[in-house]
Order: sequence, then C-alpha cells, then structure tokens
Amino acid sequence: LGPTICVGEILVEIVATTVGDGFRQAQPLVGPYPSGAPAIFIDQCGRIGGSAAMIGAVGDDDFGRVNLDRLIRDGVDVSAIAVDATLPTGSAFVRYRADGSRDFVYNIATSAAARFGWTPAVAGLAARAGHLHVMGSALSMPNAWGVIEQAAQLIKVRGGSISLDPNLRKELRYDEATEAQFARLVAMSDLLLPSGEELERAAGVTGEAAAVARLFEMGVTEIVLKRGDEGATCFQRDGSRIDAAAFVVDEVDPTGAGDCFGGAYLACRRLGMPVEQALGYGCAAGARNVTRRGPMEGAGTRAELDDFIRTTKRRA
Ligand code: ATP
Repeated sequence: LGPTICVGEILVEIVATTVGDGFRQAQPLVGPYPSGAPAIFIDQCGRIGGSAAMIGAVGDDDFGRVNLDRLIRDGVDVSAIAVDATLPTGSAFVRYRADGSRDFVYNIATSAAARFGWTPAVAGLAARAGHLHVMGSALSMPNAWGVIEQAAQLIKVRGGSISLDPNLRKELRYDEATEAQFARLVAMSDLLLPSGEELERAAGVTGEAAAVARLFEMGVTEIVLKRGDEGATCFQRDGSRIDAAAFVVDEVDPTGAGDCFGGAYLACRRLGMPVEQALGYGCAAGARNVTRRGPMEGAGTRAELDDFIRTTKRRA
C-alpha cells in the first residue's frame, strides 16, 4: 500500500555528558547528532527495511546535511524534505539529572522545521503512502497540522492506516488548540504508542484498563504501551494482551528509545509480522539504542537487531 511516512521536526541534538542541574556544569557537550523524534522513528523504519519517507524541513547548512546524509544512508526517501534557504536547521540540547529525568532546550520555533508546508513533493508522496506516523511533539509546530491532516485524509481514503506516539515534552507548547489537535489525532489513529502517563492523557480517563477500553471505543485498534526497562505491552481490540520483556543492557543515553521502538515495531507490523515478533524487534531496537550516546546512534538494521536478540538476555 505504499511507504510509511512521518511528518515533523528534524533536528540536531547536542548532549551533556555529565549528569547535573545546569548546562554550565554540563561540559563537555557532544554532538551534533541527527535527531528529532519523527526523524529517529523513520530512520529506524528505514533500517528495518520497510519502505519509509520523511516530510519536514532542514536549513541549507551542515546540521541539515548531517540529517539528510543519515536518512539517505538508512534507506529513507528524503524527496519531501524541504531545504529552507533562509532558516537554520532546528536543534535541541539535552541534559540528564541525577534522578534519571532530563531537560531539553529546543530551537524549533525559529528553525526550518517551523515553516514547511504542503508542497507538490509532499502531495506526491502522501498520494502513494500507505501509513502515516505522527509524533505528538510535531504538534508544537502549527505549520505541521495542515500537512498532517491532509496526509491523513489521503491515506485514509486509500485504506491506509495511522499511528500516533503522543511523545509529550514538557518544554514544548501545548495550548488549548494543540490539545484539540491532539484529541483529533487520537480519534483518527489505528495504532497508539504511548508511554507512562501518555496512555491516560490520550484517553482522557485515569487507570490503565479504563484508558485502554476508552481508546478502543474511540476507534483505536491496537495500543502498545512502552514501559522503559520493563519492556512493553500490546493490547488489541479483541481483548488480547501480549507482554514483552525488556532486554538487559547498560543504559548510556535513554533519548530516542521510544522512537526506535516505535519505528521498529511499525516497520515489522507493516512487513506482516505478528505482534509478538514485532514487540521483540521493538524492544531490541529501544534497548540497543540506549547503549550508545546520541538519539539514534544505536538504532539497528534487521540483521543487527537479530544479532542483538540472539546475544542479549531478557529480563525475567
Ligand atoms: P523516549 O521518550 O526516551 O524516546 P519512551 O518513554 O517513549 O522513550 P521507553 O519506554 O523509555 O519509551 O522505551 C521504549 C522501549 O525501549 C521500551 O519498551 C524497552 O523495550 C526499550 N528500553 C528503553 N529503555 C530501556 C532500558 N534501560 N533497558 C532495556 N530496554 C529499554
């Protein structure tokens, strides 16, 4: 039914190598790494071998080229990524606190990411796509809303499907209009990939079981709850529940785990794999990614993930 497409921010990320409370103490910083949740997701899709394409924009600068080179290397179609001659590629700084939480400083609103729109290249891609994946973080850019809506409609008409990772970030803007847009997207989605409190937030009710039931009532058919180093659980509308154990790894940098998980899970499902096998690849992709510094440096090809699965223990 055509490629999986993802719309949203393409960034470089600069990461603090020390744990602490402020960037002033966070030296040295490392990067720039190719990043942006939608870009990480689609890169992992491409590495698995599913047909994948990205919609967004970079500046005509080195940060943009870092991203384009990576996506092209990993088999992602970049023909609908605009190169903006007047705005720079977006960027993000991340640092980690001692309790494991993290803080981002984003430069998105004044970057190329905040200005892409519906172009002939985007229209051509959306007209042949089979699946649209949306990251909630992209909703912080109002220019992305129309692109997502139009692409979603074209895909739905053709019998394609839509997935959503709420990917809520406290640093990004979520006003009333964004919340409404988020709710519209949840209602349009076939597959939801939340983590933590995002499940209840998407459903608008509290309690895991109640949230899952509510989302099925709203039309979602599959929910995959990501549970960090506790693995993941897939709930299906027919009432089935499949749990997958996490792999045992030393976590170096948690950023991007959820995006890699989602990219691998979706690519595998679209290749026709059953839930259990797709969960295995998703957990492997997330776990492998946290073993390397940088948001997508540990994403894996299917062969690399097969090797990882063969050689890595799973939690009991
Ligand atoms: P992020 O927002 O950082 O991208 P997320 O909250 O969306 O992440 P997580 O649940 O943290 O998603 O990670 C996704 C998957 O990656 C998990 O379901 C798990 O399989 C794997 N994973 C993440 N962290 C670890 C870890 N420390 N050890 C093993 N597996 C992990």
